[in-house]
Amino acid sequence: MFRPVRGMKDLYGIESSKYEYIRAKAMSVCSRYGYSEISTPMVEYSSVFQRAIGDDTDVVSKEMYTFVDRGGESITLRPEGTAGVIRAVVTESLIQTLPVRLMYCGEMFRYDRPQKGRFRQFRQFGCEHIGEKSPYVDATVIAMAAEILNVIGIFGFEILVNSLGDTETMEAYTKAIVKYFSRHEKSLSPDSQVRLAKNPLRILDSKDQGDREICSMAPIITDYFTKEAGSYFCKVCELLSAYGLNYEINNFLVRGLDYYTHTAFEFKSTAGQFMESIGGGGRYDKLLNMFGGPDVSGVGFAFGIERLMLLLDDERFNVSRRTVAVIPVSDEENDSAFSLFRLLHSNGISAEFIHYGNMGKKMKTASKLKCELALIIGEEEKASDTVTIKFMNTTEPEQKSRSISSNDVAQFVKNILS
Ligand code: AMP
Repeated sequence: MFRPVRGMKDLYGIESSKYEYIRAKAMSVCSRYGYSEISTPMVEYSSVFQRAIGDDTDVVSKEMYTFVDRGGESITLRPEGTAGVIRAVVTESLIQTLPVRLMYCGEMFRYDRPQKGRFRQFRQFGCEHIGEKSPYVDATVIAMAAEILNVIGIFGFEILVNSLGDTETMEAYTKAIVKYFSRHEKSLSPDSQVRLAKNPLRILDSKDQGDREICSMAPIITDYFTKEAGSYFCKVCELLSAYGLNYEINNFLVRGLDYYTHTAFEFKSTAGQFMESIGGGGRYDKLLNMFGGPDVSGVGFAFGIERLMLLLDDERFNVSRRTVAVIPVSDEENDSAFSLFRLLHSNGISAEFIHYGNMGKKMKTASKLKCELALIIGEEEKASDTVTIKFMNTTEPEQKSRSISSNDVAQFVKNILS
């Protein structure tokens, strides 16, 4: 038997409806805030992600799907959306008038260990606001992300915020935590021992219980903020409070990617069945510059769509279309019935053409397909240019069937289904 590749799944039925629903709702909220859609290629040259995300991050060092293509180029299936969007903004010279506000929705790929809500192919909806560096913008972007969740119908979430400060902050803080973790090196998990050498900040979001205990006493970034970084972060928090958003400051929130500076944030589900990160983002100061663009800053976020789907009740998406069956009594009436079936569709009416088996089987099929009416054409109907209409869901004898002229059928069905 063929199966999909591990960690990748087929999307259909209710899941597909949920996906379309989330995408449409998110897009409508962000269009109102001035975002327009961008679709970048699903693959980029590997250097795009290596440079932007950072060689020592988990995403680049362990999780990328990287291949050498037939032309000998190293290409990578995108593990996240921001790097490609920023690459495109520079390549396509989209920075003529600032700010540039872009949203995207599509597949991402990470060679991660599959589990509930974690796949190797998953989808993200994300936004990037480029060209304005201001706490007002950061707070607006966080508020917009929260609004998306509300509009989708997800209310059980919390917002965690932190600031990674500026370059000066980061240099001083990195020195402090290297010093601290070096004193506890032997007690750190093997993964965090490697992180200590390569990317010490990452230790702060380790899931290992022993690491977590060591982290609880680690230096806190706020003590290393420059004056500017401190007041920037205070203003963001003040604005979030003014917007009435419930947030929690978490000074250990460093996020998994290297490009963040200043504001970093994460949305976590608080719903009992899935208490994981559902989205996150932050500000980046150097990313455009890294791709050869001007020295402008941006801020963005992405939601994992599969994770949002997990939080939506199936019930709401179980809506079936209202439809009718067109049934010829014998093969002799197939063509007439088929013409009626086409006529209904050209009038925007959902219909099924059921012409296999005997009459009993055809009626059973119509009822399995939840058709509300059976439009039956037999020898007599064909001769008199009429259709016999059977109401499928009624028990009242006088309502069960009636004859109607072919010319009036479309309008009659429309009235019933409306
Ligand atoms: P990140 O790009 O790592 O900040 O992730 C942003 C969001 O994407 C997360 O909060 C998740 O909702 C989602 N996400 C990240 N990795 C995966 C994955 N392997 N499978 C499903 N969703 C994911």
